[in-house]
Amino acid sequence: MSKYSQRLTRLQSEIRSQGVEAIFISPGPDLRYFTGYDAVPLERLTALVVQADKDPFVVSPYLEKSAAIASPIGEMGLEILTWQETDSPYVKLQKAIGNVTNYAVDGRMWAEKLINFQTVFTGASSISGTEVISSLRMIKDADEIESLRAAGKAIDFVHEQVPNFLKAGRSEREIGADIANAILEAGHKTVDFVIVGSGPNSASPHHEVSDRIVQNNEMIVVDLGGTMPDGYCSDSTRTYAIGQMSDEYLHRFEILHTAQQLATASVKPGVTCESIDAVARNYMNEHGIGDLFIHRIGHGIGLETHEHPYMVSGNTNVVKEGYAFSIEPGFYQDGKSGARIEDIVVCGSDGAIVLNNRPRELFVV
Ligand code: ZN
Ligand code: ZN
Repeated sequence: MSKYSQRLTRLQSEIRSQGVEAIFISPGPDLRYFTGYDAVPLERLTALVVQADKDPFVVSPYLEKSAAIASPIGEMGLEILTWQETDSPYVKLQKAIGNVTNYAVDGRMWAEKLINFQTVFTGASSISGTEVISSLRMIKDADEIESLRAAGKAIDFVHEQVPNFLKAGRSEREIGADIANAILEAGHKTVDFVIVGSGPNSASPHHEVSDRIVQNNEMIVVDLGGTMPDGYCSDSTRTYAIGQMSDEYLHRFEILHTAQQLATASVKPGVTCESIDAVARNYMNEHGIGDLFIHRIGHGIGLETHEHPYMVSGNTNVVKEGYAFSIEPGFYQDGKSGARIEDIVVCGSDGAIVLNNRPRELFVV
């Protein structure tokens, strides 16, 4: 049984236990997770249809059928229900499965498609499939952990080269262009984001690049991510400096570094997602910079850079072996300075398996 068939079987038992009669999954990371089919998201309906006690099948425009068969869907032997340009795929799908009292859709489905489903499944309630799907996707299997490990190595290799690109007098944009090339050369298929936040821009967590010229005696937050050819994502941040930093900044950086290490050390099966955030936040509060830590500590990662679980106060979900997520505390003083340290970790049987391993100290160029 292929890994995709196993995932579909798990999805069927999950919807059965949650009382969901059918789930429709449109092109995107969820479809790729369950079938390996990296379908192009189009206005025409393509959907994986999964019911608790019937064979899953795929609805596909006739003109996309050969692409679907060329994907792992062909090997799995899933039935493909095709529709012609003048058919309504929604009516065709409704006729194929008959009446249901409820159905779920993936969280990324276009609103237009959901509205079309609502028009043909009159009287049925439509619900979000995010919880059902993420409960499966959050637990990475051995193949996925290897994929994330390779992505981690690739982005570590980029960070290894970053100091070569950092020079006073260059703009963030020029530095970012060099880094983007390095991300591709390191084996990624796409560059997802390049954040080069120098000086005051380091205080903006999602700053990308600008025409600002990097000066001497400035910190630079460099947060990088790409997608590998197998679809798995990398995401890692290191903070660099050119020249001298103030004693206050260096002191804060040490607090941040310890907070990041404490949070990583707290990872094990059975702790809550929110507790990992709290470990770093409490330490930073005790040392006077908790109010500068303005975002959650992390997010799940896999076929998407940001996916469940979110490591944030209020998330009492219990961490299980196989959860993969970032640990990325930071401090940000508006308009002045900032820093962040980010690693991807996987929860192993007795602690964190850390997938990013470049030195975490402030790297002075
Ligand atoms: Zn990041
Ligand atoms: Zn991140």
